[in-house]
Amino acid sequence: MQKIIISAAGCWTKELLEDIPVVPQKHTVFRVKCPKHVPEMPLTGDLTTGVYWRPEGKEYLAGSPISVFDANDLEPAWNDFEELVWPALAKRIPAFEELKLTGGWAGYYDCNKLDNNAVVGKHPKYDNVYIATGFTGRGLMQAPGIGRALTELITTGSYQTIDISAFSVERVLNSEVRHEPYVL
Ligand SMILES: Cc1cc2nc3c(=O)[nH]c(=O)nc-3n(C[C@H](O)[C@H](O)[C@H](O)COP(=O)(O)OP(=O)(O)OC[C@H]3O[C@@H](n4cnc5c(N)ncnc54)[C@H](O)[C@@H]3O)c2cc1C
Repeated sequence: MQKIIISAAGCWTKELLEDIPVVPQKHTVFRVKCPKHVPEMPLTGDLTTGVYWRPEGKEYLAGSPISVFDANDLEPAWNDFEELVWPALAKRIPAFEELKLTGGWAGYYDCNKLDNNAVVGKHPKYDNVYIATGFTGRGLMQAPGIGRALTELITTGSYQTIDISAFSVERVLNSEVRHEPYVL
């Protein structure tokens, strides 16, 4: 039986498969607490600035819309909090004017530079190589469906319950752009 290789290397994909344009994109997330009561809310984004926030236990996470390719380190972009994130939060939710910054971190999004969408399926140049990458900051949310669909493709030769051929490797190799404009 032929061995199957699945490349799920996230933002390091291009190091293994040069023709797949998935690269590291640094993003910073801040943790804040708010002394005032704020009604419950889901993950919420401010489209005018790109700032987003969501509850995290008794605190909140708030993300900066500024991203950096070719970053040299993963030091959080602390200045973004004062200059951009806090003002945007306070404008939308006045109680957030009294926010206190309690932490923050930076990490790499697995950015598909072609169009910010996932790249999933069989690599047409190889007999036995499959890919699941390029989720551009949405990989945790998409993982259950991607895992199921890719399992179906590998074990039966086609998608059975979830057709994700829109994310095909061919689309990326042929530069068929399906741009996702909203990347949190
Ligand atoms: C700050 C931040 C916030 C995020 N928030 C969310 C969110 O709220 N919701 C959401 O859905 N997603 C979010 N994401 C995105 C999510 O984390 C990624 O989309 C997801 O982790 C991608 O999963 P993956 O398994 O494809 O890749 P990864 O989790 O990056 O895993 C890739 C693995 O491959 C390994 N690897 C790489 N190269 C090689 C090699 N040559 N040999 C062997 N192993 C190798 C790496 O060590 C790593 O363990 C966030 C990301 C960041 C940075």
